[in-house]
Amino acid sequence: MNSEAELAVFTCKVCGRAFTEGRRLGGHVRQAHPPPKLEPQGNTRDAEKMDGVTASKVLEMWKDGAEPFEILTSLKLHPRFVKEVLKEYDELLNEWKRFKEA
Ligand SMILES: [Zn+2]
Repeated sequence: MNSEAELAVFTCKVCGRAFTEGRRLGGHVRQAHPPPKLEPQGNTRDAEKMDGVTASKVLEMWKDGAEPFEILTSLKLHPRFVKEVLKEYDELLNEWKRFKEA
């Protein structure tokens, strides 16, 4: 009596189920053990949007002549974030100038 298990040569590495054909094993793995999704979490986009809003607030205050301390405390931000924003803004201005001159 030949049961499928005795003939099987393809064994699932995840659950140990045996298959007689490689493509069957492949189908099983795809169905039963899908790879973990690498998609970004749903709130990533929102976080970015928030950052954009906060960044523009930082720039507004900075343009109005606010001190770093004022910006950090009133917007409740990490100094690193404000530094990043100003650095990015500076880079943007430089890029902008270069485009205009070209
Ligand atoms: Zn399996």
